[in-house]
Amino acid sequence: MKGRTFRRGVALLPVLLLTILFANSCAPFLRSVNGFSMGASYYVDYYAASDLSAEIRAAISDVDARYSVSFGPSCVSMLDQSGAGAAVSLDEEEYRAFSRVFALAESSDYAFDPAIFPLVKLWGFDPPVTGTVPPSSERISETLTHSSLSLFSLSSDHTVSKSDAAAMLDFGAAMKGYAAERVRDVLIAANASSALVYIGGTIAAVGEDCRIGVTPPRDSKESFAFSFVLKSGEICATSGDYERYFEYDGVRYHHILDPKTGAPATSDVISATVISSDGMMADAYATAAVVLGSEKALALFERSNVRAALITRDLKVITYNVDVTIKDASYVAE
Ligand code: AMP
Ligand code: MG
Repeated sequence: MKGRTFRRGVALLPVLLLTILFANSCAPFLRSVNGFSMGASYYVDYYAASDLSAEIRAAISDVDARYSVSFGPSCVSMLDQSGAGAAVSLDEEEYRAFSRVFALAESSDYAFDPAIFPLVKLWGFDPPVTGTVPPSSERISETLTHSSLSLFSLSSDHTVSKSDAAAMLDFGAAMKGYAAERVRDVLIAANASSALVYIGGTIAAVGEDCRIGVTPPRDSKESFAFSFVLKSGEICATSGDYERYFEYDGVRYHHILDPKTGAPATSDVISATVISSDGMMADAYATAAVVLGSEKALALFERSNVRAALITRDLKVITYNVDVTIKDASYVAE
């Protein structure tokens, strides 16, 4: 079979990685806001004394406008388009976000690496998926030389520059978690009594706990493989090899790339859910865990005080500080 392409949200329905199953609130959600941003749908259901839709929309579009690769004036896209040595100025918010993203890359041993964008483009995973054939090993090797965070320098004078014009950043693997964090903070500051925030599969709970289902990464009759309780204030993010991919000659090439090889990750982890009060960390580490594999991912979780549930290639569910309830019997808790 040659070049079968799955276009997220175009040819097929988008894969929902997480599903909200049950929230404990007795009161119905009074208000809701939804839309489309960062290439994904979002919706926020909340119970609050006043209408917060403008603040919620502003928080999400601020993240998109500042950090999206496809938004012309965003600081990330300006940096991507700039030449070697040109300094891009960052305001306080942007400097803080850049610092956090760079620190998450370092702490994950560059399994989460925002400098991977030239490789993402080479493989045709810059959404929507356009890749149908894997690139040659020569092109991967050449592109790897332009895909390192060491080519960027973030300076305490609030500027960022790069030493290689072809190097490019993409914060996409951490930004939905960051946006969920920003919306959660808007809701908390406005004293919302309860809320659920869903941004492209990243979920935040406010004021109440919520049961979340993780979509089976392989064909299943069930709509979720297992569920767990997301506590109030927490954010969870899931990454997997089943979200965006193409198949070529019977091999699945998915969108999470191993920055060391420049090719789709081949670790034993096919789905990673990470839970933290730090949304950017939850999102970045979910991506990193698919690259790292279960053993190194668990060591990362221990170092960083996050909770997590992984599904391995042989359908085992490995948990770290989270209780799961299995729904699909093909999946076995370790
Ligand atoms: P996520 O869905 O959060 O796992 O993010 C995956 C997206 O981030 C991919 O579609 C790529 O655009 C980009 N990406 C792929 N591999 C990596 C990686 N190892 N580190 C950072 N970003 C990545
Ligand atoms: Mg991610």
